[in-house]
Amino acid sequence: MPTDAARPVLRREIAGASVAALAKEHGTPLYVYDAEMIRRRCRDLAAWDTVRFAQKACSNIAILDLVRREGVMVDAVSTGEIHRALAAGYTPHAAAGSAAAAGLPPVHPIVYTADIFDRDALDAVAKLGIHCNCGSADMLEQLAERVPGASVTLRVNPGFGHGHSQKTNTGGEGSKHGIWHADIPEVLRRAEWAGLSVTGLHMHIGSGTDLAHLAEVAGALEQVAREIGRSLTTISAGGGLPVPYKPGEVHADLSGYFTLWDATRKKLEDVFGHRIRLEIEPGRYLTAESGYVVTEVRAVKKQGGRKYVLVDAGFNTLARPVLYGSYHPMSLCPADGHARPEPDEVAVGGPLCESGDIFTQTDGGFVATRSLPAAQVGDLLVIEIAGAYGFVMASNYNSKPLPAEVLVDGGTPRLVRARQTPDDLIRGERV
Ligand SMILES: *Cc1c(COP(=O)(O)O)cnc(C)c1O
Repeated sequence: MPTDAARPVLRREIAGASVAALAKEHGTPLYVYDAEMIRRRCRDLAAWDTVRFAQKACSNIAILDLVRREGVMVDAVSTGEIHRALAAGYTPHAAAGSAAAAGLPPVHPIVYTADIFDRDALDAVAKLGIHCNCGSADMLEQLAERVPGASVTLRVNPGFGHGHSQKTNTGGEGSKHGIWHADIPEVLRRAEWAGLSVTGLHMHIGSGTDLAHLAEVAGALEQVAREIGRSLTTISAGGGLPVPYKPGEVHADLSGYFTLWDATRKKLEDVFGHRIRLEIEPGRYLTAESGYVVTEVRAVKKQGGRKYVLVDAGFNTLARPVLYGSYHPMSLCPADGHARPEPDEVAVGGPLCESGDIFTQTDGGFVATRSLPAAQVGDLLVIEIAGAYGFVMASNYNSKPLPAEVLVDGGTPRLVRARQTPDDLIRGERV
């Protein structure tokens, strides 16, 4: 199990690359990812038959290519994400024979998971033959009309959910996601009538919850699996694996979690008399800890009794604090190269014309402070554990260009997305 080292408040390197050199070469704000950390997180989950990356957490094609090389499959929630998966080297169908050797049913390298087909997504899955995980019964007839006889996965809402925020709870009556558990008998009749075969069952109750809540899913899934019956060949535990963000938080016990799901799988194998593929679908877990936002301190000022450090990244760069009141560790890379250990109690904010543009805020939008080494204009401030729901939620608000992304592997940085230019900002617009 991964251990949790105390985080430094001074940081000169990311994965062996100099923070100052990265900022000088690529400018700020800048997303930097540690390739080896992503590989390590993929390997933590090696016990599962399939690790399927929920790419919405971090979908740069260089990251997708990296996890693909680790044997990780991919989830797509839109046509755009299907396009990314293909660009990163994924194929709609697995090479023949690879799964049979292990006695397991074949894997779908790309799965489209959503509660609707928008029209372009339906065109794409039909044309490419991509497997679909359906979160609404209406998707069944829509798919059957285009792909007669298709096999499908059902995403089921077990009637309960949990997340690090109400906005990331994806089960229960308060969630729009999945097919309601009590509707399963009727939905199975609809699938049969439409000529579809239900081969997969999936539940995902929320993001960033704790394992005790996630563990309840296994029992709920087993019940629905028995209702579906012998056509079932794959079950998915969904995502939601937590990551330690705050000091004192630790990594969850993943081996115990696997054991629980493995037992559910074995029970179903006994009932059905054939092998069942066991999938897990993490987003955050694979990439959160690999990601850093490198920013430059542009102003330090006092508003009455409170000190503010203002950097060149805002919620246009990293939205989690303003959306969820999320906590991100921070560290300082002093410009003059001197240690500057004397701590300062500061609020950290960005450049946007909006008072919510604060990285040190709590849920509800209250401005909090953080103890950091005393910062000066020109220092680099690094916002950490920003590799999940970071760049992917960045926006052009205030007409700020999207930042560049760099992947550091073996100490060597590689630009994997160029910073947007002013012309990128107005592309497609007309006067
Ligand atoms: C977002 C999402 C995930 C990943 O959630 P994490 O909390 O990042 O692991 C997995 N499955 C589905 C269907 C999702 O929508």
